Amino acid sequence: MKKKLLLHICCAPDAAWIPEKLEQDYEVTCFFYNPNIYPAKEHEKRASEMRRLAKAKGYRLAEPPFDPEIFEKRTAHLRYQPEKAGRCSICYRIRLEETARFAHENGYDLFATVLTVSPHKLVDRINRIGETVAEKYGITYLPSDFKKEDGFKKSVEESRNYNLYRQDYCGCESSFLYRQLFKDAGSQAFVPLISCEKPGIYDVQSFRRWLDRKKLKTGFLFFQQTPTEAVLREAYEERIFLEPADNLDWRKRIFAKKKQETREINLSDVSNRDIFCDPL
Ligand code: SF4
Repeated sequence: MKKKLLLHICCAPDAAWIPEKLEQDYEVTCFFYNPNIYPAKEHEKRASEMRRLAKAKGYRLAEPPFDPEIFEKRTAHLRYQPEKAGRCSICYRIRLEETARFAHENGYDLFATVLTVSPHKLVDRINRIGETVAEKYGITYLPSDFKKEDGFKKSVEESRNYNLYRQDYCGCESSFLYRQLFKDAGSQAFVPLISCEKPGIYDVQSFRRWLDRKKLKTGFLFFQQTPTEAVLREAYEERIFLEPADNLDWRKRIFAKKKQETREINLSDVSNRDIFCDPL
C-alpha cells in the first residue's frame, strides 16, 4: 500500500505536473493553504484555478479556509523588507507548519511542498523549515528541488496546456507593490541602479527628489549593510527599491533581457553622497 502524502500547493501553475509525478510512489492529496496572498480576490482567483486543475487532472484537494490575519499579524514588523529576506522565511514557515499539523492530525505519513519548483524561492531555506516543522509534529518531510531537470520549464509548459492563470507577483501585499514598481521601472527612459554601503533616510529622500526632477517613477538602491527598519519603511513609502547588493547583477540581467536601459553609480565612490544634485 502506498504511503499517504500531503502536498502543499501555492498555486495551480506550480502544481501542474508535480502531484502526478509523486503519485507514482505515494497516495497524494493537494493542500492549498496560502494566507499570505493579497488581496482576497487574488486568493480566490488562485484557489479557483487550483480547483479547476484538480478537477481536470483528478487530483485530491483539501482547501482550508482563507485567513489572511495569520500572515498579517506575524509579518507586520517585516512589511518593508525586500523579497527573500526574513518575511519570506516566516511566510514559508506559516504555510509548511499548517501543512505538517494537518498531515499529522489527519493520518498522513509525510508532507512536501511545490514551492521548490520556483526559481525565485530559496530551496535550502524551504527544506530547512520543512524539516523543523516536521520534527515539531513528529511527521516526515520530503525534501525537494522540483525545479531541477527542467522542472520549472515543465510547469510553464503544462500551465499553457491547461491555460492556467499565472500570477506576476509572489503573493503578499509587499510583493504586490513591488510588482507595480517593477512595471514602473520598465516603462522609464532608463532605470537608475545606485549602490551604497548602508542607505540612510537622507539618501532615500535625496534619491526621491532626484527621481522627481528627472520625472522617473522609481529606481534601485543596493546596500552592503542591512539598513534600519525606518529606512526600509521610508524607501517603501517613497516607492524606491531597496535591495541587498547581491541582487544587483540579477537585476541588471533582467533589465538587459527586457532591453531596458540602466545607469549605474556607486555612492561609495563619490565624496559628496548627495550625488543626486548632479545629473548622472
Ligand atoms: S514575497 Fe512571497 S514568499 Fe515572501 S513573504 Fe511575500 S508572498 Fe511570502
